[in-house]
This record gives sequence, structure tokens and C-alpha cells, in this order.
Amino acid sequence: MIQLHDLHFQPYLSTEDIQTVVSDLAKQILLDYKDRTPLFIGVLNGSFIFLSDLVRSYNGDCEMSFVKYTSYEGTSSTGTITTDLAFPSIEGRDVIVVEDIVDTGNTLAHIYKQLENANATSIAVASLFLKPDVYKKDFKIDYVGKEIPNKFIVGYGLDYNGLGRNLPEIYQLNTTQND
Ligand code: 5GP
Ligand code: MG
Repeated sequence: MIQLHDLHFQPYLSTEDIQTVVSDLAKQILLDYKDRTPLFIGVLNGSFIFLSDLVRSYNGDCEMSFVKYTSYEGTSSTGTITTDLAFPSIEGRDVIVVEDIVDTGNTLAHIYKQLENANATSIAVASLFLKPDVYKKDFKIDYVGKEIPNKFIVGYGLDYNGLGRNLPEIYQLNTTQND
């Protein structure tokens, strides 16, 4: 059990579990993109560790870049999204948006809107985690590492009010300890 600020978290996925999920995703993506040079675009801050492991598992030519939005405060989505770092030029590129986790899908909707008129050759989304019980939007998520229950998680890039991103494992909010 660990504590970040006022909340307690319990171990959920080990580093080995995560690496298996990430390298499986990289292999899947390589199969689809082997004749192209995809541009991986990581959504900061949460996806920086996932992206760095994903591209190191990706055994082919690729490029990478980042965008940054703010939508989360504490342990729930605020619904309002602001752009802190905008998309690079993606004209003629095979873009793969790399998300740490898709929850409500508000961020994803915002991203798809930004990409609509940018003349990319193709757009795909890879998310390490998806909360299917919360996600009610129709945007396609092409590559999902793991579907998880609707519980707040931290570690491996994911934070709780700034803390926990450096944890190598994934931890889940412990509801009994926090009552
Ligand atoms: P959405 O816009 O889909 O509701 O949320 C997207 C963003 O909220 C994610 O990219 C992530 O940064 C943050 N988020 C969603 N669920 C969680 C979670 O369980 N833990 C943490 N730490 N962040 C989350
Ligand atoms: Mg994110």
C-alpha cells in the first residue's frame, strides 16, 4: 500500500505486466505500419513513459512528437479542456496518437477535432488503458493495451495531483482505506 497526498493506493499491475502489454501493442502496430513511417504523438504529461517504452519496443522506422492538454483535476475529469502545446504539422503523415488512458473520451474528442482539417494521411489512436464502463463516445480507439474497471489509477506516467508518475508499477485507488 502507498500514499499520495491524502489517498491510499494498492498495487494493481507489475512492471512485467505492463511491459507485456506495451510490447504486444508495439508488435500489433508494427504489423499494420511496416511499410510506413508512423509519427507517434504522445499526449503529455501522462503518456511520456508509455510512449518512451512503446517506441523502444517498436522495431521499425518511426518519429515522435508531443501535444499537451489539461482536463483533469484530482481524481475526476473536469470536462473543460485547454490546449497547452498544440499539434505539430501532420500533413501527409501517418499519425498515431498515444494516450495513457481513455476515461470519458473528452480529451480524445478534442484531439480528433484538432486533427480534422490537418490533412494527415491517416490517424490512429493507441491508448495503454481504457475504462469501457465510462467511455461512451464513438471515436475509434485502434489499439488498446488493457481494459480496466472504473477505478482511479496512478504510476507509470499517471499522477494524482502531480504525484505518482515516477512509480514503475500501476497502483489502484484503495476504496476501503480512503472511506
Ligand atoms: P478523459 O478526457 O478521457 O476523461 O480523460 C483523459 C485523461 O484524464 C487521461 O489522458 C489521463 O491523463 C486522465 N485520467 C483519466 N483516468 C485516469 C486515471 O484513472 N488515473 C489518472 N492518473 N489519470 C486519469
Ligand atoms: Mg492523458
